[in-house]
Amino acid sequence: MGKDILKGRVTRYSIPFFDRGPHLRYDTQDDLDRFFSTLRTTRSWIVGSVALSVVSVLSEPPARSNLNVLSPYGQLHEWQDFLVGMCGFVVVSEAKCAGAYLNEGGKFITFQHEDRKSLRVTITTSARPQILQLFFAAPNTVQQVAIGSHHIVMPYPTMTSNQEGVCGWRPMDGAHPAVVVEGHDSYQTASPLPGAVVLHASTANWTRACGEACPAVERSARGLKGIGSCNWGGMDGVDAHRDANLLSLGRSRLYFRTGAFCLNEHCVFSGRYKGS
Ligand SMILES: [Zn+2]
Repeated sequence: MGKDILKGRVTRYSIPFFDRGPHLRYDTQDDLDRFFSTLRTTRSWIVGSVALSVVSVLSEPPARSNLNVLSPYGQLHEWQDFLVGMCGFVVVSEAKCAGAYLNEGGKFITFQHEDRKSLRVTITTSARPQILQLFFAAPNTVQQVAIGSHHIVMPYPTMTSNQEGVCGWRPMDGAHPAVVVEGHDSYQTASPLPGAVVLHASTANWTRACGEACPAVERSARGLKGIGSCNWGGMDGVDAHRDANLLSLGRSRLYFRTGAFCLNEHCVFSGRYKGS
């Protein structure tokens, strides 16, 4: 996809949260610009349903009503000033991160729009000064797609853009997942509705090789090899901005994979790490 198309999609899926109606279009664009500049100054990423819709290759995913943001420790007041002070949101719930996010997350705070009550923004704060560990703590791969102020980051590009994911080995204990991906309400693969997210518990019963999802293959983030990323241009048209999270990801010693070993007999990595 070209930059114009990507920017159009980023706009289309994020603008409903700041829409002030046809008579205040200028203010809407102002708030949208401010949202992306807050994303940049707080070094935060959009994740969840909105990020998934932007990268989806399925035709026209529906508009989303949950906007999820991962933010570093200590940036919450800035988001609160913006959402409550300027955009008409109120805080509706606040909880400590649990489940897969237990060790990496601080808390998640959900804001609801005062007038358009179906619109929610959730800010998940990291327990650390940066968000990469929080991003990779996601309980499944469809939650590992992020939109930064200028970049898109997607470690599992083929699967994710097809709205397909594999659950990780981290616990999903039924606690409210901090990051909402709309379009699926269970972690089982059933026969999903058209356009819904398909989530596999593992790759063990696949009738094809695992490809990028193979749990036996540990991938390094160093140098951003194997991390799908591209520049969508940014809302303000300033092209050259470098994403702070992406830069530290490329320099990090972070390793990631979806599980411990591969049980898929169609995959060349099947049998690795079995200890035999
Ligand atoms: Zn495999």
